[in-house]
Amino acid sequence: MRQLTTCVPGVKLQLPATYNIYTSIIPLRRGFGLTGLKNLGNTCYMNSILQCLSNTSHLQDFCVSNEYKKHISRQNKTNGQVIEEVAALIKELWNGQYKCVASRDLRYIVGQYQKTFRGVDQQDSHEFLTILMDWLHSDLQTIKVRRRANSELAWEKSWLEFTKSQESMILHLFYGQIKSTVKCVTCSKESATYECFSNLSMELPPNANLCQLNQCMDLYFSGEKIYGWNCPKCNTKRDAIKKLDISKLPPILVVHLKRFYADPSNSGGYVKKQNYVQFPLDNLEMKPYLARVESMSSTPKTFRLYAVSNHYGTMEGGHYTAFCKSAKYDRWFKFDDQVVSPLESSNVVSSAAYILFYTWLPPLKGTC
Ligand SMILES: [Zn+2]
Repeated sequence: MRQLTTCVPGVKLQLPATYNIYTSIIPLRRGFGLTGLKNLGNTCYMNSILQCLSNTSHLQDFCVSNEYKKHISRQNKTNGQVIEEVAALIKELWNGQYKCVASRDLRYIVGQYQKTFRGVDQQDSHEFLTILMDWLHSDLQTIKVRRRANSELAWEKSWLEFTKSQESMILHLFYGQIKSTVKCVTCSKESATYECFSNLSMELPPNANLCQLNQCMDLYFSGEKIYGWNCPKCNTKRDAIKKLDISKLPPILVVHLKRFYADPSNSGGYVKKQNYVQFPLDNLEMKPYLARVESMSSTPKTFRLYAVSNHYGTMEGGHYTAFCKSAKYDRWFKFDDQVVSPLESSNVVSSAAYILFYTWLPPLKGTC
């Protein structure tokens, strides 16, 4: 049933003038994760995300090794179809046979479940990623987790409620949990709630054309004053401080920079912030942003960047690409729809950066 569409003849992998130095590392100048994705009419938002996922080496290995087949759930709304199509596509991207392929079947399936992904209009790659993660998780939700008998920890209870004691490879890789603490400024009574996330959406600091990712993180996690909180101890409305911390840090941390916002002076239309956000390629230190329970755990807290989904242009007329560090070649490449080209690591940080993929997992090199 699956239809494979290779690129039209003549579409070649685009290489810069220094091409010769790359021939030794790109076998046959194609394949092994360096396969492009054809644009099916404004599908660059999808292509950008798929290349970031294809370069998530543990997910790539999970698909190429067929391990995912042991874990497909047919119980949830997408019936296991989304993981099947994502896995089929990742296999095509890594089999070394194609300069470029088309994701028609995956696009058809995601369009079945979400109308906005059906048409030819440009969509938001962040929205696509968030929904895709949700579908992939539910398609693979077969790992039963037994509740610890004596578990009274609030974060753990909330996690079990979210997963319904059925976890997935996607959950293990990408999902974390945020603790939100509200503290009454009058009596200091604290109340905590927990929420799971597959990515963190961060505002950019206002009035700053240039900022550091740390500043976005500080802004996100630092306290925010809220008014009229119903304090359970004072039994009346009080001012309070709301503070966020990560109570469960995932091995892959996806950070979304909120570049699009509704502008009242533009009839509520969306406007894009073009801020240049400087972010580290190595050594993103997450320890300052962790809740106590997580900061004391033994999981690593220092992350390295391995993929970026970029957005160029405006809300109306934009284009997406991906910059990914190939685990196989241990270097960066630019994925611009059907064209894949080497990229200097010094060019990874740009004002187009929109979604950042960080991990502390070591790359798997020997899978293809
Ligand atoms: Zn109070």
